[in-house]
Amino acid sequence: MMELEKMGKYAFEVGMYRPPSEGGSSSLLLRFTRNCPWNQCAFCGMYKHEKFSLRSLEEIQGDIDSIAGLVRDMQSLSLALGHAGRISRDVILAMIEKEPELNTSHGFAMVINWLSSGGKTAFLQDGNSLMMDSGKLMEALRHLRSTFPSLERCTTYARSKTLSRKPLEELTGIRQAGLDRLHVGLETGDETLLKKIKKGVTAQEHIEGGRKAIKAGFQLSEYWMPGLGGREDWQNHARNTARVLNDINPHYIRSRPFSPWLDTPIHEECEKGTLTLLSARERLIELKLMIETLDVTSRVCFDHAGNDWVNRNGRLLFSHSYEGYKFPEEKTRVLNLISEGIEIQ
Ligand code: SF4
Repeated sequence: MMELEKMGKYAFEVGMYRPPSEGGSSSLLLRFTRNCPWNQCAFCGMYKHEKFSLRSLEEIQGDIDSIAGLVRDMQSLSLALGHAGRISRDVILAMIEKEPELNTSHGFAMVINWLSSGGKTAFLQDGNSLMMDSGKLMEALRHLRSTFPSLERCTTYARSKTLSRKPLEELTGIRQAGLDRLHVGLETGDETLLKKIKKGVTAQEHIEGGRKAIKAGFQLSEYWMPGLGGREDWQNHARNTARVLNDINPHYIRSRPFSPWLDTPIHEECEKGTLTLLSARERLIELKLMIETLDVTSRVCFDHAGNDWVNRNGRLLFSHSYEGYKFPEEKTRVLNLISEGIEIQ
């Protein structure tokens, strides 16, 4: 799934997906590769019917230059209208009058959101930017950083397998070229479940990849999936996920609860009855075991919309803050919230 829009002279590609925290900070979305090079995870429908492809350095730099041109032209228009360079509603309307195709453009809306949030963060799409040749990735990052000096943080998705294979010096170079944070889909630390969901990575590779990313200087954000093992495997899933995370000790641990995506192999398993979904209460019991086993100095986050457990006032049980709860300091607080949730679900 991709978008190459007709935006007059400002053509650039925008992919579909980004982590919740990159939406909240209204990141600039830049497509460095298309879709997912692995594309086999049994629970994932994100890029199912799309083929992975690399983009050339010229294409990526062309997109960055296009966006820079759009920003420059909006700022000139703003000055001409007496708005002192501010991207006001009048400036946006005047811009659309000049280039009517911008009116229906998702990319244009994304750039406006990014600018109105201060132009501080960028996210490189799609599923695993580290598949790029390291030299090209570094060059693209340097071009991005010099074109938009307002950027304070640049992040992307990465697979543990790729991280475990990339030499440390290359990862360090990529970090120094301006990539700050990696979002990795751990999903589970349980070996049997990793095979079952066709994650294409072992628990050991998750650990090696994660540790290497931290050593290279990245902030590391690991996503795991409560409920992924169903009633059949919940205890192994909870314990082994915590154990692998203990070995990595990433900066962020983010919970993205499992929900079967139509038209995926795991959805078929649910239909056949070989995987039994956990109830909201059972998922909290699983979460309790996972959190009890966790021994990290990470921030534990529930920023995905799927963390929809409620408390006794009918409000969200956990904060959906992108910075979550600091462990170990707030571990007891999280366990108390889980107990409250178990009582009332
Ligand atoms: S690696 Fe990520 S994007 Fe690719 S199939 Fe697996 S979950 Fe989906």
